[in-house]
Amino acid sequence: MGFPSQRLRRLRKNDNMRRLVRETGLSAGDFIQPLFVVEGGGVRREISSIAGNYHLSVDMLVEEARELSGLGIPAVLLFGIPEGKDDSAAGAYAPDGIVQRAVQAIKKAVPGMVVITDVCLCEHTTHGHCGIIRNGYLANDPTTQIIARIALSHVEAGADIVAPAAMMDGQIRAIRTTLEEHGHHEAAIMAYAAKYASKLYDPFFKHGTQSPVAFGDKRSHQMDFANSREAMREIELDIEEGADIVMVKPALFYLDVVYQARQRFDTPLAVYNVSGEYAMVQAAAEAGRLDFQAVMQEALVSCKRAGADVIISYYAKEAARLLNRPAYSWHSARPLPEFQSDAPALDGNARGVSSMDVKVGS
Ligand SMILES: [Zn+2]
Repeated sequence: MGFPSQRLRRLRKNDNMRRLVRETGLSAGDFIQPLFVVEGGGVRREISSIAGNYHLSVDMLVEEARELSGLGIPAVLLFGIPEGKDDSAAGAYAPDGIVQRAVQAIKKAVPGMVVITDVCLCEHTTHGHCGIIRNGYLANDPTTQIIARIALSHVEAGADIVAPAAMMDGQIRAIRTTLEEHGHHEAAIMAYAAKYASKLYDPFFKHGTQSPVAFGDKRSHQMDFANSREAMREIELDIEEGADIVMVKPALFYLDVVYQARQRFDTPLAVYNVSGEYAMVQAAAEAGRLDFQAVMQEALVSCKRAGADVIISYYAKEAARLLNRPAYSWHSARPLPEFQSDAPALDGNARGVSSMDVKVGS
């Protein structure tokens, strides 16, 4: 039974028809906003390569968390940029460390906000590597012990979820065991389960956490980007070890991995739409080659369509702001003239103004 009884265009003829049969929804509740916390007071400094995202001192971080909560974003993921570093990463588990103070401040001011902390050593070591280096090699088990200690300190500061990022073997078990031993039965773990050795992290490390590696690279622990079956093994092991949420990182070049993981596992699945993915769209928009908001929509919806439950993204705030507009129709920011919806004109896009005129993150 084909044409003409089947004409798939019948259900695409106007915006309401398309909305009616849309398969994938998106809401502010899907997002985790990454945030970068720095020392000092009153600091709100835009990160050049991830514009619309900021280095925030704890006081300004609290304001940001309040605003994100008001937009309906349920969770933030914290990255700390400490002033002092040493190769044992002792600052990472100090009770008064930058991340620990940030967690306490957010939980006090916005108690309902789910506070997630990135757990790794790389922001705290002088060489920028994710652990203890012995004979030029990242030593797994000594690093894992420190990771568990960092996670415990974050939970003791009030973190709801810890997110170990180092791709050490056994790190989820080490954290889960430590948390249980200390009575933190309710603290959840979001595992960077299938984290690839990707150059798409460069804007994050260069300008975000300012912790690029001093030598070598991270290919001895992060995954080879040519592999996907191995990603399923990584995810399976993390679930067995006690992960509550598993993650694939990066997002857009890895949606096949997200899709496979969704087919295979029922554990909530997160995807990290990383700095390089954001920076590419931003650079193209600045050059007049792409419409920032329209491509942002496609990127975020593609993550959901592939099967992600949760999206960690530098777009989160901007997307939530758009989704919250009462008349906003997702995916129809620029309706074609013949199918113009009855909805009142939105500022910027609906009037045909270039996205370059709509300041990102403003
Ligand atoms: Zn790391």
